[in-house]
Amino acid sequence: MSKNVYFFGKGKADGRADMKNLLGGKGANLAEMAVLGIPVPAGFTITTEVCTHYYQHKQTYPKTLKAEVTSAVKKIESIMGMKFGDAKNPLLVSVRSGARKSMPGMMETVLNVGLCTSTIPGLIAKTKNERFVWDAYRRLIMMYSDVVMEKAAGFEPQEGKGIRVQLDKMLSELKTSKGYKTDADISADDLKVLCDRFKVRVKEVLGKDFPDNATEQLWGGVGAVFSSWNGKRAVSYRRIERIPDEWGTAVNVQAMVFGNMGDTSATGVAFSRNPATGENKFYGEWLINAQGEDVVAGIRTPSPLNESTKSEHNRHLPSLETAMAKTYTELDKIRLKLEKHFKDMQDIEFTIQEGRLWMLQCRIGKRTGTAALNMAMDMLAERLIDEKTVVTRLTPDQMDELLHPIVDPKAEKETKPLAGGLPAGPGGACGQIVFTANDAVEWFKRGKKVLLVREETNPEDVEGMRAAEGILTARGGMTSHAALVARGWGKCCIVGCAALHIDAHAKSVTVNGKSYREGDWFTLNGSKGYIYAGQLSMVSATENPRFQEFMKIVDKFRTIGVRTNADTPEDATKARGFGAEGIGLFRTEHMFYGKNSEQPLFLLRKMIISRTEQERRAALADLYPFVKKDIKDTLAVMDGLPVTVRLLDPPLHEFVPTRADERARLAQSLGISSDELNKRAEGLHENNPMMGHRGVRLGITYPEITEMQVRAVLESAIELIQEGKKALPEIMVPVVGLKAELDNQRRIVDAIHAEVCKKYGVAKIEYLYGTMIEIPRAALTADKIAESAEFFSFGTNDLTQMGFGFSRDDIGGFVPDYLEKKILSVDPFQALDQEGIGQLISMAIEKGRSVRPKLKIGICGEHGGDPSSIEFCYRVGMNYVSCSPFRVPIARLAAAQSAIAAKPATAKAAPKKAAKAVARKKTVKKATKKAGAKRR
Ligand code: PEP
Ligand code: MG
Repeated sequence: MSKNVYFFGKGKADGRADMKNLLGGKGANLAEMAVLGIPVPAGFTITTEVCTHYYQHKQTYPKTLKAEVTSAVKKIESIMGMKFGDAKNPLLVSVRSGARKSMPGMMETVLNVGLCTSTIPGLIAKTKNERFVWDAYRRLIMMYSDVVMEKAAGFEPQEGKGIRVQLDKMLSELKTSKGYKTDADISADDLKVLCDRFKVRVKEVLGKDFPDNATEQLWGGVGAVFSSWNGKRAVSYRRIERIPDEWGTAVNVQAMVFGNMGDTSATGVAFSRNPATGENKFYGEWLINAQGEDVVAGIRTPSPLNESTKSEHNRHLPSLETAMAKTYTELDKIRLKLEKHFKDMQDIEFTIQEGRLWMLQCRIGKRTGTAALNMAMDMLAERLIDEKTVVTRLTPDQMDELLHPIVDPKAEKETKPLAGGLPAGPGGACGQIVFTANDAVEWFKRGKKVLLVREETNPEDVEGMRAAEGILTARGGMTSHAALVARGWGKCCIVGCAALHIDAHAKSVTVNGKSYREGDWFTLNGSKGYIYAGQLSMVSATENPRFQEFMKIVDKFRTIGVRTNADTPEDATKARGFGAEGIGLFRTEHMFYGKNSEQPLFLLRKMIISRTEQERRAALADLYPFVKKDIKDTLAVMDGLPVTVRLLDPPLHEFVPTRADERARLAQSLGISSDELNKRAEGLHENNPMMGHRGVRLGITYPEITEMQVRAVLESAIELIQEGKKALPEIMVPVVGLKAELDNQRRIVDAIHAEVCKKYGVAKIEYLYGTMIEIPRAALTADKIAESAEFFSFGTNDLTQMGFGFSRDDIGGFVPDYLEKKILSVDPFQALDQEGIGQLISMAIEKGRSVRPKLKIGICGEHGGDPSSIEFCYRVGMNYVSCSPFRVPIARLAAAQSAIAAKPATAKAAPKKAAKAVARKKTVKKATKKAGAKRR
């Protein structure tokens, strides 16, 4: 019989921090804190396995659960000296979710469970605080009726008609009718009457009595938490965060402690270091005489934790450090103990009940990319962590965020901010303002950049928050929902901007007497908390010396190379700056698109429309200097580093002009009539161009096209070499499926090589000749292909297209449905399908290296910049990945992290799993060895 319930409290625990998969993050860390002797209210965790069982067995529990829970409740009772459901000395508990990975606000919580008509008088007698008890009861009714009786029971009320909204309205009406300003003004008698009226309303709306039995409430709470795992917002958050549905949530049941028992009680949320900047200062917010939900909900503006972290927005509020000095010192000691123990920044929740401090939660704190970088480097200097750990402390997404733009400081200097708020999410964002999450999603779909402006956000807003460039709220502190979610995503966010008067209904906001409407532009500086009207310019995050230092450490652990996909000298320069070690894909056709492409494009069109070889050769001769210049300039920038130049790939008809004036100009230049030109253009039409006359097929039909390109590569290389530079060109043939295609083109390359050598008076020009592997047949026959290719580069865009049979240009029509219906978990054009396409790749590598052991192998499809795909490339023994310039640092980090994750040190863990891991690593090692130690 497996254990379903893990107890913690009074210096002991059944669980530990490393049992997150079973106990969820919250449960595992509560156990760890208990063992560390930190004051934690006693409680127990029902495992994630029970959640899985619950869903696999028609929402029922394992048979033994009831007895285990009963015995765990008894243990809490004995430690806390109270009894659950007891009329004289009642114990109240909280029931909270806790998944492996934190999902802030996405699942349900019920507090004050155990309050009912039989326990209320006892608690009043014990606390001598009637108001407190009735307030706790009204909170219980509000939460429980919403979470357990409505949501978990499957009611789907209309917008604004849910029980919670109705009860909130009744509470507001009571305050208005009595002229009360805040909740604290409501008397015990008022609350008592309100609770009675609440219960009547609950019965009317939900058709059931509010449960008046402690045990019934407890099981209702447990069931509601489990069913919230499959609630709409939790599911959509999991999709965004790629959290598997099978993980399930744990349920934590814990003795209640109260921060709302008067002015010696308080509650707060804190970070052991600043989560926005990384600064090593205890940072947080607290509220006197309040329950935890009040801090997160943004109902009251929280006070700063200490004097040194006060900001201009909260300077006037008292800090915990001065208001409750002794407790603050105790809390600060716990902060240091936790950091030393977990060796990472902690996000903690605490409650002070009548002067006694209780820790309710600790977990690794979410942070911005900037904070992640600064903390990692600081902790290294403090010798808290080693270099290897430093590398693991920045996720590829955080690095992406670090490379994101900020508001141009010059523009900021010249512009007066409209208002200020709390800097909750980093960087800059500029967009058109919208006032609902739905609008944010809709506008985003229409290609607009939007800023979501809300009074405060709640978990139902996540999709809109995701779609927005930035988030701005009028209420809430640094630990409000908006702040937590935005920071987790590294999204620009400002919260608690009291100057905003939002009328979400009218879709407008008034700031200092001036009104702004939906669609107006705002700019946010999320690092400083400034809001500007209009569009301010953005600049990329400047070269930060700390970033450079970090990247140096990253490269110490990286064993595969990182190249870039670049087609211009400008991009090549940028990529070199980001640390690219070569070009993995230079797409020759890119010189026919965009800036400065008019002349070469015209000449290319002339060549395409040509009928005879003679005409075509004449057009190619005119085109030659353009092609050569682009290649030579790029080779020059990459001096000393390899450059893979791919021969022309796309179907030619893509370049045929459609505009009448362009066609006329072309006809005139070729000396043919418009009719003749139209006829020739029609002749180039293809029904399925992606599988048509493209790639190597062009070079086979028109050898002179290959000749011209190869000449450009080799002449550029020898000229640069003669100028004292080091040119390392690699000629790559695209869309190959047959060895014979490659041999056909090789003959042309050899002939041109001989010609160029003769022309420049040299015996040999160094270059490599290789192919893309992007057609399944090429992967299947890679041993044959490797006889003719000196390198492989996996074109995983086409390989995915042809492996799946999904047209890469048309996936918009169906892949979103596949994702929605969970037929696919990710878009295979973004993250490599390791299960299917991955097989083609590993087979091709194995076959290729069986013939040519030193075969150089890389990837140049979009997946070369995707962290999970990079990990795969590392595992199958590729020499390098190639990606767009801005992703180069991300790829360097992902490659280093893959190497660290594969180190045998991790294989010492649990014996069974370790055996599998070792087996996997052996394969990797073998592949790595074959590829050479430092794979570039
Ligand atoms: C590929 O197919 O993965 C590739 C890099 O080539 P392209 O995207 O240009 O077809
Ligand atoms: Mg391709």
